[in-house]
Amino acid sequence: MATTEKPQDALMKNYGDRLATLVRGKGCWVWDETGRKYLDLLSGIAVNLLGHCHPAVVEAIRAQSETLIHVSNLYHAPPQAMLAAKLAEISFGGRVFFGNSGAEANEAAIKLARRYMRAVKGEDRYAVITMENSFHGRTLATVTATGQKKYHQHFQPLVEGFAYAKFNDLQSVEALVDEKTAAVLVEPIQGEGGDNIARADFLRGLRTLCDERGLLLIYDEVQCGMGRTGRWFAYQHAGVEPDVMTLAKPLGGGLPLGACLARPEVAEALVPGSHASTFGGNPVSCAAGLAMIDYIEREDLLPRVMQLGALLSGLLDELAESCDCVVEERGVGLMRGIELDRPGKDIVTRCQEKGLLINCTAERFVRFLPPLTVTEEELRRGVQMLGEAIAEVAS
Ligand code: PLP
Repeated sequence: MATTEKPQDALMKNYGDRLATLVRGKGCWVWDETGRKYLDLLSGIAVNLLGHCHPAVVEAIRAQSETLIHVSNLYHAPPQAMLAAKLAEISFGGRVFFGNSGAEANEAAIKLARRYMRAVKGEDRYAVITMENSFHGRTLATVTATGQKKYHQHFQPLVEGFAYAKFNDLQSVEALVDEKTAAVLVEPIQGEGGDNIARADFLRGLRTLCDERGLLLIYDEVQCGMGRTGRWFAYQHAGVEPDVMTLAKPLGGGLPLGACLARPEVAEALVPGSHASTFGGNPVSCAAGLAMIDYIEREDLLPRVMQLGALLSGLLDELAESCDCVVEERGVGLMRGIELDRPGKDIVTRCQEKGLLINCTAERFVRFLPPLTVTEEELRRGVQMLGEAIAEVAS
């Protein structure tokens, strides 16, 4: 490295200019390298479900990393199977494959769907219908699954076998089903798309369609899952179960971990040698995830998410009424934000200058993804800062 270069110059520029250099975190608060403190209501984009460095998670990481860090998937290590059993218990049962990220979890689900159709059902089906404005990851298959053209640019040829339907429009899904269709992949709440909520009747319609046509219904709960909406999984609000579900983001308590869950009959498709991941289900990540789930259960945080979500919704509604540029407030639980009539980037930048970390997605949706442990006071303070930022930037 030349002496004039900063260590950051050794990184690729795919993340653009980083917004700050953060060096320490505790609960809802983070500190930058100059010692400045920020209220973090973004949680590493829905990762830090219990806030920064929660003692229950820190202790689980410490204990597991002093005991066993990695063994490869040639062997069992207790935390992995324990976490799989716990996920099955709080969802729809079934079996679990662990990877390290949301993209890997979705990649596993797509491969599972293809293999299930061919190896288990003996049908040559491989295509997956996904939704416009969806987000499923950045590997070649999952970026293809992502129904947003901007993410496809310059990566063609994309992976064969994907088609995009309109979200919340059952007819548009039906119109795409043909003899090659294997699965429908949908986020019960589109996070990156701007907290677009799948209606219960849409999910019910998809369930019926998949049952009638012999397709797999796959939910991507990478962002909306694990308690963020006040239930363990967002689909539980509608009560419509999938055949396959993917998880990641908060699953490892802040450490990399992704999971693909499937009904036992579907899970049969992944026989020995058909799929794998060196680090998938790492004992330390799984122990951290188990500790996080245990804490949420012990402290009965899910009802609290509902209450705090209602508070946040009310605060954002008030903001919407007082600011002309706010089109609407929407979301579920602690996955919430406001849609603006203009790009939200400058407002988010102003928030950061004021000491609040949130973000803007889908260009005009400014969103909050606070930890489940956030206090009422922190939410009030965050919305107040957002209101001030809007008044300064957008008036
Ligand atoms: N699926 C959804 C719904 C997501 O929100 C994301 C990331 O934002 C992904 C998949 C990809 O996850 P990862 O970045 O861990 O690969």
